Order: sequence, then C-alpha cells, then structure tokens
Amino acid sequence: MINFAVKLKTMNIPLSSYPRIVIIGGGFGGVSLAKKLSKKEVQVVLLDKNNYHTFQPLLYQVSTGGLEPDSIAYPLRKVLIGYDNFYFRLAEVTEVDPGHKKIKTDIGDLSYDYLVVATGSETNFFGNTEIEHHAMSMKSIPQSLNLRSLILENFEQALLTDDYHERDALMNFVIVGGGPTGVELAGALAEIKKGILPKDYPDLDTRRAQINIVQGGDCLLPGFSSQASKKAEDFLEELGVQVWKGVRVTGYDGKTVTTKTDLVFQSAAVIWAAGVKGASIKGLDAADVLAGGNRLKVNEFNQVIGYPEIFAIGDIACMATEDNPRGHPMVAQPAIQQGRLLGENMVKLLEHKPMKPFVYNDKGSMATIGRNKAVCDIKGYRFQGIFAWFVWMFVHLFFLIGFRNRMVVFINWVYNYIRFDREARLIIRPYKRDYSQFKD
Ligand SMILES: Cc1cc2nc3c(=O)[nH]c(=O)nc-3n(C[C@H](O)[C@H](O)[C@H](O)COP(=O)(O)OP(=O)(O)OC[C@H]3O[C@@H](n4cnc5c(N)ncnc54)[C@H](O)[C@@H]3O)c2cc1C
Repeated sequence: MINFAVKLKTMNIPLSSYPRIVIIGGGFGGVSLAKKLSKKEVQVVLLDKNNYHTFQPLLYQVSTGGLEPDSIAYPLRKVLIGYDNFYFRLAEVTEVDPGHKKIKTDIGDLSYDYLVVATGSETNFFGNTEIEHHAMSMKSIPQSLNLRSLILENFEQALLTDDYHERDALMNFVIVGGGPTGVELAGALAEIKKGILPKDYPDLDTRRAQINIVQGGDCLLPGFSSQASKKAEDFLEELGVQVWKGVRVTGYDGKTVTTKTDLVFQSAAVIWAAGVKGASIKGLDAADVLAGGNRLKVNEFNQVIGYPEIFAIGDIACMATEDNPRGHPMVAQPAIQQGRLLGENMVKLLEHKPMKPFVYNDKGSMATIGRNKAVCDIKGYRFQGIFAWFVWMFVHLFFLIGFRNRMVVFINWVYNYIRFDREARLIIRPYKRDYSQFKD
C-alpha cells in the first residue's frame, strides 16, 4: 500500500485521488516522460521556467542569423493539449524538500507523490568568475539572441573606429571548446565571414575578421571517431578557421584572452562552449547525491540514490554503468530514452510491478561544420561530407517538435542554401556591451 502525501492545493492545481507526479523541466527528457504518462491514472504537473521547449542543437543557427528563434521553440502547453489530468505552470523551482515531499517555486509551494528532476544542464565555467562575467554562453534562446546581437554590433562598431588594433579585436571571435557546439558555431561564423560580411560591410576590410577555436584537449570533437575529428578539423581549416589544440584558456577580462601558453587573443567576442554541469536544485545538492559535473546520482531506474520517490532524467542524471562510468553523455538521446522508459516504469511502480532497468541505445554522433560539410559516426558507420550533411539535416528536422517548426526550418535551410544567405541577422534586442575598454 502506497501512502500518498497530503497534497497542498497550491498553484490552483485541483486535488485528485490520483498520485501526483511533478516534473521539473520541459526539455527533451521532461517532454518525453509527459507524453508517456498521458491517459494514465496519474495527475501530472509540469513546471518550467520558460513556457516553451528549446531545441538546443540548433541554437547556434539562431546565434548566427540562420534561423529565427521561434522556429526552434515549442509551447509547452501545446505539448499537453488533450491530455487529461495534466497541468503546466510557468515556474522556477528553487528548492526541493524531500522530507515533506514538497517543492518550493517562485509562484508557491507544491507537494508531490513522485518528483522527476529533468532540469538539464547549465554552462560550466569551472569556477572562473572573470570568464563567466565577460564571455558569452549559448545554452538558451535569450543567450543565443544576445550572441547574435553582439556579433552584429561588433561589426557596426568596427566600422566606426580608425584604430587598426581595435578594429581587429572587434572582428576577432574566440570560441573556447572544440566539442560539437564550438565546431558548429565556428563553421557558421566562417560562412558568414565568407558569404555575408563582404556584401553587408563593403566599406570594412572583413577579410581581417578571424575565427579561432581553442580546444584544451589534443583533438576536436572528443568522443567522436578519430576520422570524424580529423575531418572536422580539415573542414574548419578549409573555411579559414584557426584551430588551436592543446591550449587551455585561463582568463578573459572582456578584452584579452589569456591561455596557459604564450598565446593571447584580443577579442570583443569570446564564446564559452567548454563545458556544462547539471542544473541542480537546492535541497538535492548534498555531496552524497551529486556525482561529478553536478549531476544527480541515479540507479538503473533513474531513482535518485537515497530518495525512492525522486527520479532524475537527462543531463542532470548521472547513471554510472560499466560502459559509461561517468554517466551517459549529456546529449538529447539519453534524455529522450530515459523519459520514455520512466513513463512506463512509473506505471509499473504504481501497479506494484517490477521496473525495467535503463539500457542506453547509443544511436551515434554527428556534427555539421557548414554547407555540405558534416561528420557522422552512426553505429559503426563513419562518413563525412555532403551525405553526412543531409543525414544531419534529416535527423535534426525529425527531432524538432512541431510540424510548423519543421516546415519553417526546412524552408529556411533551402532558402539559405540557394541564396547563400542568413536573413535573420537582426539586432532586435541589443546586447549592451561596454566598448570603452577597446579604446586605449
Ligand atoms: C548549443 C547546444 C547544442 C547542442 N547540440 C546537441 C546535438 O547536436 N545533439 C544532441 O544530442 N544534443 C545536443 N545538445 C545537448 C542537448 O540539448 C541536451 O543534452 C538535452 O537538451 C538534455 O535534455 P534534458 O531534458 O536533460 O534538459 P533540457 O533539454 O536542457 O531541458 C531542461 C528544462 O528544464 C528547465 N529548467 C531548468 N531548471 C529549472 C528550474 N529550476 N525550474 C524550472 N525549470 C527549470 C529549463 O528551462 C529547460 O526547459 C546541445 C546543447 C547545447 C546547449
């Protein structure tokens, strides 16, 4: 016999005889779980600090004017249309109180019978507050729009100066981190430099614009095959990107990037893509529940160690297995697969049936470097170039939520391909950067 908590009637969520499952986060994991729980004898409350789901793999295209932000966002309320006993509330969860089976949010407290933490991850600056303050991140749509504005504003600013060094610094992009995000962003910036800047800024010598990608390790795309990693580097170099490997960035004061080597960059745009950590929540952040990278330790059923009524899925969950001793990769597929299985397991749990352990089906990795250039490692098959690029596009369209979004993205891609263009290069919400430090 399961004893369900005394429910708090807050957030105007009705009391129900069904057990209440609260899901924090409408990302890949949270949405997959919610879909699986439709038409089940449960009350589901989905909470997210945004009222939309973000398709993060295409954030870099928003940052570089290739896509409008709306085309990679999807209203979470629409995901739940037609589901009985489902409630969405726009709320940021600030604390979990496992002792009282309650969460605290910026709109009030809520009790739960089962809690699922699907909060994803956030940028990891590894404690370097100077870099955190000055560098740009690309983990959300607002951050991508900030970056888009900054890139364009830097060129507008470069037009205004007669100082040669200042102009170079304004057109010098430093991307820290050579994983898929860094590589994809570097490729997109290189294409802008080649195809768009000369037309948009005919009175500026945009040939002097530089795109640098700085990777601490000795190869790009760690985790991919050596073939894919090498090919990605070749593609970037073909596009004129300067690839720096084995170089660790140590600081950025808004003007000068310092590294562990003698290498120094003067740059007005540093993009930090060098790491992520779990987006943990107060109350579930003690050392005994957190694994490396701020992720919640979970068992093979995604139950947080020590808390049988709390589950964690996706980026925030660290399920250490023999194949993945440091947890599954922080990418979309583990989140989707864990969300789906947890939906089935929660029903089993309520029916007192044994739950099924999670086994990750690794479908492979892919990254695009630019027009006709991508690398794919899929189930033992390694291929690069134009075919890989088409596969990359198909997979991303397939996983985008919403028919309209798929259509809009597809049409944009076709248009951009034919016209060699990126029309969303708009400064709609200016990013306020202090340019005074470049004056001396
Ligand atoms: C730039 C970029 C590119 C990427 N490219 C790829 C790729 O090509 N392929 C790939 O597989 N993966 C890629 N990823 C990783 C992938 O997006 C993540 O692994 C995936 O989103 C994880 O899913 P999730 O459900 O765990 O979290 P998320 O999808 O991040 O969702 C978390 C949700 O929780 C909400 N939330 C967080 N904290 C709170 C809180 N306290 N209260 C309320 N709501 C909260 C957030 O608003 C968000 O909606 C990329 C990520 C980034 C940032």
